[in-house]
Amino acid sequence: KAKALGASSYQFFEPEMSVEARRRLQVEAALRRALELGQFELYYQPRIDVRTWRLRGVEVLLRWKHPELGQVSPLEFIPIAEERGHIEAIGRWALREACRVGKRLSDQYGTQLRVSVNVSARQLRSAELVADVEQALRESGFAPSALELELTESALIDDIDQSVDVLHRLKRLGVKLALDDFGTGYSSLSYLKRFPVDVLKLDRSFFLDECPNGDEFVAALVHMAHALGLTVVAEGIETEEMMEMLRGCRCDEAQGYLFARPMALAEFDKFLQCEVPGAQAA
Ligand code: C2E
Ligand code: MG
Ligand code: MG
Ligand code: MG
Repeated sequence: KAKALGASSYQFFEPEMSVEARRRLQVEAALRRALELGQFELYYQPRIDVRTWRLRGVEVLLRWKHPELGQVSPLEFIPIAEERGHIEAIGRWALREACRVGKRLSDQYGTQLRVSVNVSARQLRSAELVADVEQALRESGFAPSALELELTESALIDDIDQSVDVLHRLKRLGVKLALDDFGTGYSSLSYLKRFPVDVLKLDRSFFLDECPNGDEFVAALVHMAHALGLTVVAEGIETEEMMEMLRGCRCDEAQGYLFARPMALAEFDKFLQCEVPGAQAA
């Protein structure tokens, strides 16, 4: 089985090695060449206005398909790519691709779609991030104000002073910044004041039934975020009831299976043709 991963990546599995450990080695080995072999693809998930249900933006999400391992979740391979030092190159590719596609979509459909790209902790620490973003914008001609970068709180608080510095440099390029997965980490409200972010993305755990007094809590968070001038986006919205709750809480935008799952570009093009008034097929 290991041989199937390529001659350069023979693995000598110890017989007592656990299934998880083997899997991890396979993923690690395959990840080394995934970018050059063109195995990554971006998927697109719409972001919808809570009041009007109109399309506001799109989050791009990495997908990796390996011939033997099949579809590997970003939840599995991103931490490994971070650890093994591949995330900078993969992240750079995602940024360039997102800007290139964003430019094409805005030209073709005449929309003001916000394109949101995830940035990992290690990318944030890398000296190249600001230059990578600048280059992706320059070579694509995509409007900086239409590009949004999503960062998690845990990435930011690793080194707060350095984070604040990088965020300000990114802001100077004209891009928007979002705090992703708010509610999964420390969720300290004090960070919202320190980090120059434009958007707060509330994690889907807020909207699950197990969340006691969820509505009041979300309403208070939205209220406070608005007071700080932030746009609030709810993640993982799967039902009409959740949507109703968001309307009551004055949440701005929502993303989730209720509207659409992340989809391949060809499918997102079709989505846009239905969604954008006056949009023409190419
Ligand atoms: P995230 O940025 O919080 O992305 C949202 C995740 O929630 C996505 O999972 C999306 O498919 C999923 N999701 C969306 N709507 C629903 C819903 O209604 N219900 C449920 N149950 N899930 C929903 P995905 O695509 O597997 O991505 C997982 C994580 O991997 C992302 O979380 C992000 O942290 C990371 N990731 C994905 N793409 C990239 C990338 O290009 N770069 C970096 N650095 N990280 C990425
Ligand atoms: Mg995200
Ligand atoms: Mg998120
Ligand atoms: Mg999340």
